[in-house]
Amino acid sequence: MPERKLSIPNAASKSTGSQSVSLTRRRTRENLKEKIARARAIASRLCQAYPELQVPLDYGTTFQLLVAVILSAQCTDAAVNKVTPELCRRFPTPDRMAKAPLAEIERMIRTLGLFRSKARSLKACARQLVDRFNGEVPGTMEELTTLAGVGRKTANVILGHAFNLPGLIVDTHCARVSRRLGLTRSEDPVQIERDLSKLLPAEQWTGFSHRMIIHGRRICHARKPDCKACIVEQFCPSSNLIAHRSNSRTQTHNGQDQG
Ligand code: SF4
Repeated sequence: MPERKLSIPNAASKSTGSQSVSLTRRRTRENLKEKIARARAIASRLCQAYPELQVPLDYGTTFQLLVAVILSAQCTDAAVNKVTPELCRRFPTPDRMAKAPLAEIERMIRTLGLFRSKARSLKACARQLVDRFNGEVPGTMEELTTLAGVGRKTANVILGHAFNLPGLIVDTHCARVSRRLGLTRSEDPVQIERDLSKLLPAEQWTGFSHRMIIHGRRICHARKPDCKACIVEQFCPSSNLIAHRSNSRTQTHNGQDQG
């Protein structure tokens, strides 16, 4: 399989005058204009921190990218990259994947979580591509999300990277960081997409959401965010709260020890 890496352009490199939009901690509400300015400052900072992202999913064709993204659900990219070379060499096209024995696909991806349901999705998705899209991966959200194993997150990756169309990729990391940063209050990925789309220009959506994912993986961890190392700490309404919670836990713990 000829190898390509997803590459994300440096979209948010313009100066945003970040000093003027840093969060005023005493302020309890900000208006939309202020939130937009803060979101753009965050995008700019993330762009500086993660300038030319290489999302490490290997693929040769748009179909192979689709295969890799379907396989990446609840798996590391590294684990996916271990199985895709052989899988895509054996079944490089929708037609070949659709005709592949299910047990053979399962065997080749058995090191990945949920491998049985992923194998079924790959085979069904390939069949749908052959039957309904002439063996081509379609280029709209509406069409992509009719395919087996393809939700909005996967569709946005395909639109952003195979078709160069803007897409906000809202996974668990992007959702968590967006809420902590006060860019959304929702738990629903579709609503989070809507909220973020109002704050940033469309050409920044793909890069911004990828950077939020990276930031969530590296710094803004689910259990213990590293706020001291965070490049957007000055724009984040959660940093004080998290620090306060962690101090309270430490004090309680010390108190119990002393007792
Ligand atoms: S300041 Fe802390 S909670 Fe806020 S985005 Fe950074 S790491 Fe996450």
